[in-house]
Amino acid sequence: MKIAVCSAQSYDREFLLAANHKAGHELVFLESRLNEETQRMVADFPVVCVFVNDILNQTVLQALAAQGTRLIALRCAGFNNVDIQAAARFAIRVVRVPAYSPYSVAEHAVALILALNRKIHLAYNRVRNGNFALPGLLGFELRGRTVGIIGTGRIGNAVAHILHGFGCRLMAYDTVQNTECIKLGVQYVTLHELYAASDIITLHCPLNQQTYHLINTAAVQQMKAGVMLINTSRGGVIDTQAVIAGLKANKIGYLGLDVYEQEGDLFFQDLSSKVIQDDIFERLLTFHNVLITGHQGFFTDEALHSIAQTTLENISFFERTGQCQNEVTSELLR
Ligand code: NAD
Repeated sequence: MKIAVCSAQSYDREFLLAANHKAGHELVFLESRLNEETQRMVADFPVVCVFVNDILNQTVLQALAAQGTRLIALRCAGFNNVDIQAAARFAIRVVRVPAYSPYSVAEHAVALILALNRKIHLAYNRVRNGNFALPGLLGFELRGRTVGIIGTGRIGNAVAHILHGFGCRLMAYDTVQNTECIKLGVQYVTLHELYAASDIITLHCPLNQQTYHLINTAAVQQMKAGVMLINTSRGGVIDTQAVIAGLKANKIGYLGLDVYEQEGDLFFQDLSSKVIQDDIFERLLTFHNVLITGHQGFFTDEALHSIAQTTLENISFFERTGQCQNEVTSELLR
């Protein structure tokens, strides 16, 4: 099928072209993000392949339907950037990659925990400057610490298994309990109990109406002083202003982010010669105890291979049968 690949990066080309040897689709790579301003670029493509910061709201979907698009193929797990109900109204089917190596994101979340705790980002710069002094680099042992996991699906479950190996006490909050986590000894508690008991809180729930700004001022107030907060899920789960206030008050002792609510204007681009206009993001960068990566949790060889493979399989299945595998329907919004 003729597929427009939006927000295409060099690695998207590399992995999709390799997977396409077998699938044989016509791939057209477009570097721009898809949104209301760029929707014309995908005119006449029956399949549009998108990523996390492409915006498929009602206006864009209506235009795409009129331009002949019948399938949106997300090359990611999250689908908060697509208005699923509007897609159904315009008879556009939506498929995604629900499960590609959850270990890629889980290991990145743990990398952020370890780096923040042992202050690797500060130590790296000190040693390069010939400064081998240790004050300011004091860490703590993970063994015996309480970690609160919000969202124990594929990634949260993988995080639980890794941190179990470190000897952490594991607590979780989810709307559905995961039997693998229960077997591991994870204790399901209320959000309030999780906030009050956790030394480290790590977010692995999707962004939806219930989780939008879940971490707000009221949530931060319930947390332990000096808590470490890690977000590798979606930026909108955190109210950034509330978290900045928590950092300034020393309530939040460490913040590790791989995602940011306004990341669409920043991430996946080289802006090193530009002036960053986002003052909230710039404020975050001033804290010594904040470590930010640019949405790279998924970025492993294994995950990219699996994402490319499943994305093209989803499209081939639609071409062959007119049906969808890995479909996102409004059922998943509940
Ligand atoms: P998943 O669907 O397997 O698990 C999500 C879990 O969150 C489920 O157990 C679900 O019941 C739970 N949940 C739903 N609503 C909740 C709520 N209100 N409160 C608490 N828990 C709730 O998804 P996954 O594969 O584990 O991925 C989790 C999220 O990670 C994705 O939605 C995506 O936003 C994010 N993600 C980030 C990256 C990255 O590169 N940083 C990559 C992949 C996924």
